[in-house]
Amino acid sequence: MSEIIVLGASNAIPTPQGETTHLAICTGEKIVLVDCGTNPLVRLEHARLDFQAISDLILTHVHPDHIGGLPLFLMDMWLLGRQTPLVIHGLAYTLERVEQMLDLFDWRTWPNFFPVEFHRLPEEEMTVLLESDSLRVYAAPVRHILPNIGLRFEFKRENKSAAYSCDTEPCPAVIRLAQNTDVLLHEATGNFRGHTSAAQAGEVATQAKAKQLYLVHHPTGKFLQNDPSEEARTTFAGPVILAHDMMRITL
Ligand SMILES: [Zn+2]
Repeated sequence: MSEIIVLGASNAIPTPQGETTHLAICTGEKIVLVDCGTNPLVRLEHARLDFQAISDLILTHVHPDHIGGLPLFLMDMWLLGRQTPLVIHGLAYTLERVEQMLDLFDWRTWPNFFPVEFHRLPEEEMTVLLESDSLRVYAAPVRHILPNIGLRFEFKRENKSAAYSCDTEPCPAVIRLAQNTDVLLHEATGNFRGHTSAAQAGEVATQAKAKQLYLVHHPTGKFLQNDPSEEARTTFAGPVILAHDMMRITL
């Protein structure tokens, strides 16, 4: 059984009810983390996931709500004795800046720090980011304020798939990533530059023929006024679920 665990479902402003959007993709064979706007350690413990088992971390783009927690996450895993290597995937543009951020902390001088390998992705559609026995991950550039990627996960054992738009305006690349997918996690920040409203997310899900739509990166806690899933139902006939922290989606 594979699962997507929504470690955080909030937009850039976290609340007691919602951390910034980050995900754990779990197949039994592999755990892949997507984004690190906050230190994920506490959420991982709540989800009963062993940080030692995380082999890969995908960083979608260099906005702080997607990468800001990385230095402390790496430091805490080191202090807790991690020795297993970690592969960090992202666009070359993203990883260059991530390395600059980590250099502020002189991370290369931390004694016995575990191996970190950077996998730089080209800005091309349907780039195979990762392939293992249980999982294939594709990345494609999406339409945000700076270079960013959306993702498609293919769960080989279950013959199921999921897509994640990340932060983007409605765009054809997400429709292609999400083609006939079982689960589309789409952002619903609102109708702003570089973002998508819930109604637009519904349109994308309809065009992609996705089976279910989960809204992420939306206002949470005191900032959540109208349920955005109602709005998405006006444009998408399938099930619409407002994702919340620690929600587990079974594939
Ligand atoms: Zn962003």
